[in-house]
Amino acid sequence: MQVERHLLFYLNKYRMNEKNRLLKSLPKVDECIAVLRGDPEVQAPQRIIKTVVQETIDREREAILGCNHEGGEWSLAEWIPIFKKNIARKMLPNFRRVINGTGVVIHTNLGRSILSQTATDKLAEAGGYYSNLEFDLETGKRGSRYSLVEELVCYLTGAEAALVVNNNAAAVLIALDTLTKNKEAIVSRGQLVEIGGSFRIPDVMAKSGARLVEVGATNRTHLYDYEQAISEETALLLRVHTSNFRIIGFTSEVSAEDMVALAKKNGLITMEDLGSGSLIDFSRFGFPKEPTVQEIVQAGVDVVTFSGDKLLGGPQAGIIVGRKDIINRIKKNPLNRALRIDKFTLSSLESVLREYLDLDKALKNVPTLRMLTLSAEELKKRAQRLARRLTKKLGQRCRSFIAPTVSRVGGGALPEFNIASWAIVLVPSTMTLNTFEKRLRHLPIPIIGRIENDRFLLDVRTLQEREFGDLGVLLDELFDTGANSD
Ligand SMILES: *Cc1c(COP(=O)(O)O)cnc(C)c1O
Repeated sequence: MQVERHLLFYLNKYRMNEKNRLLKSLPKVDECIAVLRGDPEVQAPQRIIKTVVQETIDREREAILGCNHEGGEWSLAEWIPIFKKNIARKMLPNFRRVINGTGVVIHTNLGRSILSQTATDKLAEAGGYYSNLEFDLETGKRGSRYSLVEELVCYLTGAEAALVVNNNAAAVLIALDTLTKNKEAIVSRGQLVEIGGSFRIPDVMAKSGARLVEVGATNRTHLYDYEQAISEETALLLRVHTSNFRIIGFTSEVSAEDMVALAKKNGLITMEDLGSGSLIDFSRFGFPKEPTVQEIVQAGVDVVTFSGDKLLGGPQAGIIVGRKDIINRIKKNPLNRALRIDKFTLSSLESVLREYLDLDKALKNVPTLRMLTLSAEELKKRAQRLARRLTKKLGQRCRSFIAPTVSRVGGGALPEFNIASWAIVLVPSTMTLNTFEKRLRHLPIPIIGRIENDRFLLDVRTLQEREFGDLGVLLDELFDTGANSD
């Protein structure tokens, strides 16, 4: 006991001394800055150099204090390359393109839909030139930005009128704010969804000033549930597409047609938040049947909202379509000014919508549609091509072979639905899979894949052909740089 206590005392004392020694060995910030400023390879403003030096040393100090410290006492010369690497990293733009090898086509964290060359050209044009954003070229007078896409949206959806706002959450908010402020909106309990982040239907309704009346049970809601809940205070019947989860088993929801009939009888408005509304019936390609925007409009629903960057494959936007008198009321809501879309969105959205004028063209030219409908056969060929290329480039450093896998739609659309696909399996010979995955994320163009059953996979469905060359170069670079570049 006595001996043990003595030992512990000396051990602690030794640790304290060791920590103090390491802390003292940390380089002086000013000295480091002076050396770095004199280094022609360091191209960064003084403030960046200073911040990086301080952050790097602070991290090291915390590591020493927390006993996580691995290295010994380093000389200034040994510290310099570390600072230089960290400065170079800080000088890279924060917003960067990445290579999506996850197989999730509409990956919300990776920017949802990507745009075609035509649409991105439009974006650049809108940025680099003046435009007729709010200028009527016929009359030479002030025009409306919304008129640029309204006709197209109506043509494609069959609706009388349309309005586009910042995103679908904004579309739901402004529609409810206009139509149900201080009134009641009736929703099925099975449709009170949370989309992710903080978008929850009940919260958005509260923000809009609508009073939520929940009806039915989680798994089953019937027409009479709505009927019984209708009162003097009711303004609207709302349907929300349960896009990101499935209730299976003993379930039922009221169809759009039945809801429309009930609303008509009672002089109420119907609204549907379709989420990732699609203009194409994907069941043609073996996907589960989901209602298209056209079908919901056809069913007589008064207001329908959906996202621009989910299954539509466009830029971030919220599209509202429906009855002309109702859309006009929404247009006049002062919130519209706060939620309006900018010229970049408008220009690229128009370009994407124009592709839909010819469905075959849309399937070919809208990247989201193209990726979702690539056949397993095509994907296998693509994977073989990429594997050959990588094998040639990487040799023994990293083996690559192909394997079947499954992709996901993403964007909260068609959850649980697996799409047969092919992946490249990468087997690095010199590092663990976790290190490999981390280093891929730290490349100048990060490569994002998934680790599954102890294998690192890149699903070729979401890899673009034009990225194949980059992949080779980036992986080559990864295996060539030193071991400490984690
Ligand atoms: C995704 C989604 C939203 C939110 O759309 P954003 O365009 O991301 O704002 C709202 N409702 C449903 C049902 C959704 O699926």
